[in-house]
Amino acid sequence: MHEHTIVLEGDSRIPDFLTGELQAKLAYVDEGILKATVPADGSRVVLTLREAPDAERARALEVKVRRVLEAMVRGAVRPRQKVLEDHLDRPVPSSADPMPALMERGEVVPEEQGIAALGPLPVRLIEFFERHFVELAEGFGARPYRFPTLIAASLLDRVEYFRSFPHSLTFATHLREDLDVIEGFAKDAHCRDEALHIDPTALSGIRALLSPAVCFHYYGALAGSQLEEGVCATAVGNCFRYESSNMTSLERLWNFTMREIIFVGPKDFVLENRELARSRVSPLLDDWGLAYRVEGANDPFFVGDFKKQVAFQSAFQLKYEIRALIPHRQGTLAVGSYNFHQDFFGRNLGITLPDGNPAFTGCVAFGLERMAYVFLAQYGLDSAAWPEAVRRGAG
Ligand code: ATP
Ligand code: ZN
Ligand code: MG
Repeated sequence: MHEHTIVLEGDSRIPDFLTGELQAKLAYVDEGILKATVPADGSRVVLTLREAPDAERARALEVKVRRVLEAMVRGAVRPRQKVLEDHLDRPVPSSADPMPALMERGEVVPEEQGIAALGPLPVRLIEFFERHFVELAEGFGARPYRFPTLIAASLLDRVEYFRSFPHSLTFATHLREDLDVIEGFAKDAHCRDEALHIDPTALSGIRALLSPAVCFHYYGALAGSQLEEGVCATAVGNCFRYESSNMTSLERLWNFTMREIIFVGPKDFVLENRELARSRVSPLLDDWGLAYRVEGANDPFFVGDFKKQVAFQSAFQLKYEIRALIPHRQGTLAVGSYNFHQDFFGRNLGITLPDGNPAFTGCVAFGLERMAYVFLAQYGLDSAAWPEAVRRGAG
């Protein structure tokens, strides 16, 4: 391992509101980068590299890093940090990282970076939270759905996902229908350096990906239809986002699960229900004793589109996040989000209102692994210290 520091001068310095986002993006700059850190003052980028670079390689890396900085930093405007609810100072008993104990007890078993099996303790917590989320959805008359883990490439294309989030895609492929290819693969297949050794020409074209979210499936199901009135649906599903070296513990997984409550209809219908959901979720979080805050946020767009999209989302208050306290690192983590997409999906997929105009959409999404993780980070593994409601429901 080798450390390489890039010093930033003048207006290429990174403003504090971008350090987290930038650090996350730098992981995707080059396969040789194991970790990228930006100190709080934004004056440097410190790359931890797989191996020491020669002068030419160091220059090439620096050019790529500066390209990211150029795209994300120059002219970026500080987003209006709108805080809607603040319960971050709620006292919680634990300040320990729950991961070592969870792994030692076999409650979390890592399979690969970003892939983990969960045991009874986190599962009972997730089932407990889920019962309440399902009840919440029923309160909106939500129609229950089950969506596949795979999603059609054509659907993601129609909702312009490839342009906004190319870095986090996970492709599904299979061997081509060809006897020689299949026999050749069966004979030679083996893992080398933990990756499957395979001739890329043996693989099929890509018609499906692993789904990055739940609600796209519902918009896809409504494509080309005219709604008589606003509709609400709910589903839980596996979601996949390749987050490179940012994948750590249960905080950031490649494969995680989301419960979504989805609204499609007239603008006011979607916005009012998003607010109503927020007013019904907070009492639950309070009951569970969580320290959290609800604030304006943006989606993790890739470098090229980042500045424009973020400014847009922030100006129109399209996304709020429930950010729960992570005491052991004095930070917060999003456990859920309230999203408003305006008529974006309605337009792209031809979902219309009775007057023929495109429908509006919004969704409320909870990350289930993160719910369990933040609860355990705030309350520890021993249910004796848990709030009454959670002890009764999940202890
Ligand atoms: P983050 O800001 O942490 O990158 P996000 O803004 O991409 O998350 P959303 O798209 O709003 O997240 O997804 C809804 C919820 O799904 C998040 O609030 C979080 O709880 C969960 N989630 C998102 N990405 C991951 C992941 N990689 N691992 C685990 N949970 C995740
Ligand atoms: Zn959604
Ligand atoms: Mg976010």
